[in-house]
Amino acid sequence: MPDNFTYTDERFADIQMLRYRVEGFETLTPRQRILVYYLSQAALAGRDILWDQNGRFNLRIRRMLETIYINYEGDRLSDDFRAFTTYLKRVWFSNGIHHHYSTDKLQPAFSLDFLRQALDQIGDIEGLEKPYDKFIDIIFNPEVMPKRVNQNEGEDLLLTSASNYYGPDVTQAEAEDFYTRQKACAGDPKRPVMYGMNSRLVKEDGQLRELVWRSKGLYGQAIDKIISWLQLAQSVAENDRQAQVISKLIEFYRTGDLSTFDAYTILWVNDTGGDVDFTNGFTEVYGDPLGLKASWEGFANFKDKVATARTEALATNAQWFEDHSPVDSRFKKTSTQGVTAKVIVAATLGGDLYPSSAIGINLPNSNWVRAEHGSKSVTIGNLTDAYNKAAHGNGFLEEFVIDKETLELINTYGDACDDLHTDLHECLGHGSGRLLEGIDPDALKAYGSCIEEARADLFALYYIADPKLLELGLVPDAEAYKSQYYTYLMNGLLTQLVRIEPGAVIEEAHMRNRAIIARWLLDHAHGQVDGGPSPIENSPTTPGPVDGGPSAVALLRRRGKTYVQINDYERLRLLIGQLLAEVQRIKSEGDYAAAARLVETYGVSIDATLHAEIRERYQALDLAPYKGFINPELLPIYDEAGNIVDVKVSYGESYDHQMLRYSHDYASLPLIND
Ligand code: ZN
Repeated sequence: MPDNFTYTDERFADIQMLRYRVEGFETLTPRQRILVYYLSQAALAGRDILWDQNGRFNLRIRRMLETIYINYEGDRLSDDFRAFTTYLKRVWFSNGIHHHYSTDKLQPAFSLDFLRQALDQIGDIEGLEKPYDKFIDIIFNPEVMPKRVNQNEGEDLLLTSASNYYGPDVTQAEAEDFYTRQKACAGDPKRPVMYGMNSRLVKEDGQLRELVWRSKGLYGQAIDKIISWLQLAQSVAENDRQAQVISKLIEFYRTGDLSTFDAYTILWVNDTGGDVDFTNGFTEVYGDPLGLKASWEGFANFKDKVATARTEALATNAQWFEDHSPVDSRFKKTSTQGVTAKVIVAATLGGDLYPSSAIGINLPNSNWVRAEHGSKSVTIGNLTDAYNKAAHGNGFLEEFVIDKETLELINTYGDACDDLHTDLHECLGHGSGRLLEGIDPDALKAYGSCIEEARADLFALYYIADPKLLELGLVPDAEAYKSQYYTYLMNGLLTQLVRIEPGAVIEEAHMRNRAIIARWLLDHAHGQVDGGPSPIENSPTTPGPVDGGPSAVALLRRRGKTYVQINDYERLRLLIGQLLAEVQRIKSEGDYAAAARLVETYGVSIDATLHAEIRERYQALDLAPYKGFINPELLPIYDEAGNIVDVKVSYGESYDHQMLRYSHDYASLPLIND
């Protein structure tokens, strides 16, 4: 590990900056590293596209703010300058002047006078026309562009959203009508292209018209730079298939033709032979209130060989796990195929994946392409790892874990067990079991997704404690699973409640599933465990120690705080097996009434007093709710003739340096793109 490497970097406003390590970069060949480098450059070259998509003044305001940040000669320690710096860091993080998550306009905490004086002192700013009052008004006036993406029903979603996917005078009704008519003249109605995905819809002389994002079109200057990096990537592709994928993407960027885009995604989905992979292009539609137009993103990555070996070991033994599960044999599969979930290593995040990133990716988005050609689903292992590592020592576990001994258990095994739990859940859990003949797969209706998540989680929890995992070399020793049992119950019974507003109930399927499992175990922890599934009781009681010894698990109050205490891990595993058998029965028989009873009894309501306590303890920790990443720097190594021969990774760059460098090196667009 580099000497100066830390997973956590600076904190400002509601944001914690993290770093991630490009694990395994050294195991790639020099040619693969060069490929990753070119794809990384392509992932950064489109940065300004996203800024302009997020709002039509963003590039100009960024130029203004960065010029002040670099050249300001007044008191750089003053409250105003500090507040100004925080504001700029937030603008960088959001790729524009609206909050990356809430999409509300960011509120400056420096004074209007400070900004005026700073601008007076600096004088002319390259590319910006005076007077600057227009930009000052956009920053300070709460009436101007208050929201990037407005979703309030009943309002004109386009006129009230600041995102730049439609001309400022295009109404929602006009845009909807435009695309309804476009779809009506479609070619193959079963295989529709992603209408409107890669253009801005504008009004010219009263006529609606698409400005397509392509070479020689809108954003053409940035797209040409992306193309030139992709051409270099193509020249060092790992195989012909990968070269074809890149070539098709270049063709799409040149023509803007959406059927070429579909052809490209089909090639991309089928390209699984190499180690290196990427996404590059107009991808997610959350930024468009109508959900048509896609924000630009870029991502260079390669296969995590260690993690993939782990998932392959599980997939190879899928039938063994199926045969040995505590589920009734009528509900078991006789032939099982494990899924190899691909784990990848991020090398560079760009566009809408930077600095705030997803930790899993499932593409493409086109429904018919997914149905006919499948999709790629990956988890980004080194980002998950960075989140985990950064969480160590932030005080969260220290606050909620009952004692030092358990804390140590979690610090030793926690991260490895979390990864393994995910693998078991994804590779085996969802794929296990079968429906009885004639059972409607949608029989559980609205409870279906929650029951399905519970089934996969229970399968994972049951097997994470199995000696088979030790035999396969997937756990370090027979104690490791205990950390997973503890953190799972702590999360399901207590800490996941911090994400729910006071007075609300649990709604999200994964959260409900965790509550069901944890509360059911608590509710059954004091009884005898027998072989068969136990009937689900109607009301959760609060179990305490009963005659015949302590509960396997209990909630305990100490000094006014509630903790999870596990007394008997082995009995807990038997109970998990029992609930797994019952949940599989519910699924296999399509027992809607039992599903409803289980979910409504254990998965919805929250004890208000406990909820308030947990939220208060969490808030006292003052943890940043949002996190994002500083990219590593990939540095090319040249021979004497100036040819690139290899690439190395450097981690030392600061957040502001990286942002200023990107604004300088990847300034691929003019400040005004109309
Ligand atoms: Zn799942």
